[in-house]
Amino acid sequence: MDRLSEILRQIPKVEKVLTWTRGDSALLRVSRPRLVYAIREVLERLRRDLIDLKTERIPAQEELKALVIERALERQRPSLGEVINATGVVLHTNLGRAPLPELALAELSRLAGGYCALEYDPATGKRMDRLKALEELLMALTGAEAATVVNNNAAALFLLMTVLGQGGPVAISRGELVEIGGSFRLAEIIEAAGVTLKEVGSTNRTLLADYEKASQIEELALILKVHASNFRQLGYTSQTSLAELVPLAREKALPLVVDLGSGALIDLSELGISDELTVQKALALGADLVCFSCDKLLGGPQAGVIAGQSHLLKKIKAHPLMRTVRPGKLTLAALEMTLKLYQDQAEGYQQIPTYRMLHYSPEQLRQMALKLKKILADCPGLKVSLMEVSGQIGGGAAPEQPLASWAVALEAQDWPINALEEKLRKNDPPIVARIVKDRLLLDLRTIFSQQMVLIKEALNRALGQGPS
Ligand SMILES: *Cc1c(COP(=O)(O)O)cnc(C)c1O
Repeated sequence: MDRLSEILRQIPKVEKVLTWTRGDSALLRVSRPRLVYAIREVLERLRRDLIDLKTERIPAQEELKALVIERALERQRPSLGEVINATGVVLHTNLGRAPLPELALAELSRLAGGYCALEYDPATGKRMDRLKALEELLMALTGAEAATVVNNNAAALFLLMTVLGQGGPVAISRGELVEIGGSFRLAEIIEAAGVTLKEVGSTNRTLLADYEKASQIEELALILKVHASNFRQLGYTSQTSLAELVPLAREKALPLVVDLGSGALIDLSELGISDELTVQKALALGADLVCFSCDKLLGGPQAGVIAGQSHLLKKIKAHPLMRTVRPGKLTLAALEMTLKLYQDQAEGYQQIPTYRMLHYSPEQLRQMALKLKKILADCPGLKVSLMEVSGQIGGGAAPEQPLASWAVALEAQDWPINALEEKLRKNDPPIVARIVKDRLLLDLRTIFSQQMVLIKEALNRALGQGPS
């Protein structure tokens, strides 16, 4: 028999490895099937590595056991695991956007494991529309005649274009054909809804006269206005405002639809953010319909809202596609509780984490940075200083608007800064931070106070192990 088959035959059996792991305290919460699965994976990996000549030997018992434990624990971790956001970007799309308010969390944990009155009215014993209560809440908050909720804002836009765009053409300014990120281009969504675009104006300048001209040449289905979200234009530019467009849309009897992107319900001008039109303001200015995300400035779960004139919403709600973008009970519960904070309590919105984080003053942030610095003071070999930084809202809101913040800047003796960044990123839970000028910055705006000790533990572990 050749040497390879000889070695392969020496790979221990699953049952054997299982006995090695018996009673190990690291595996207390790992079920037997999961453990067996992890052992199979490790042994299969070993077999392949031997065949591919990536290794020539079978690891010793303790070594193999350690690999199995590592694999089993890795499998045990949920893939959507918690992350510590030390970037200072409040609405970080890759990190799940808005953290939910406590009230929503409490409601979710009450509902999720049981039954709820999702489409049932206990008062009459009859079936009820799952969206009705939320729609009424949204109407009360925004002043809209009617409203509805779908999966996200992209779905809202797709639905709007399918139902009201009716093949097009839909007029849109060339300066508003945005790409949101994650390769989501607005124009592609609109075209996927079977709607042709009538591009109006130029990239940097679109005047009311351009819309007028378009409406004279072609029979438009509607006018779409899109919030520029994640970019700003400088220099020789001009975009037609919503207020300017309203009389034209009225005169031509064209629905005027506004994709607001963020969906702010509260004026943010005190943050220096003046170009985020609130939902209420857009409707009051005369938009026939608006759509927006619920997990951006609104601070709720992923969802999309369409609000505005009831005769238009009636058409949308009656369309079969409505069912394909229907939100689930967990989303509806979280959104309702978030919206109630805007409605019920004086300044209740301050309990919304997104809102709270955006409104931290530089002095509050400096105090938090001092606290973290103190907590990290006895980490061996770590140099900790405070640094004034400029953060971002994220989520396509006010991209040019710096948010003055404070960070704790880390340097570790003998560590290349990339290695420290990587170590924290691979921590459990991962700590996501950015490197600026050879220092690792932890921006306090998005760090929750109970996470500070976790950061300390992660650093102590990392520094104990050394860079690798
Ligand atoms: C973010 C955004 C969207 C997409 O919203 P999702 O809720 O992420 O689907 C659409 N349009 C604009 C203008 C946006 O800013």
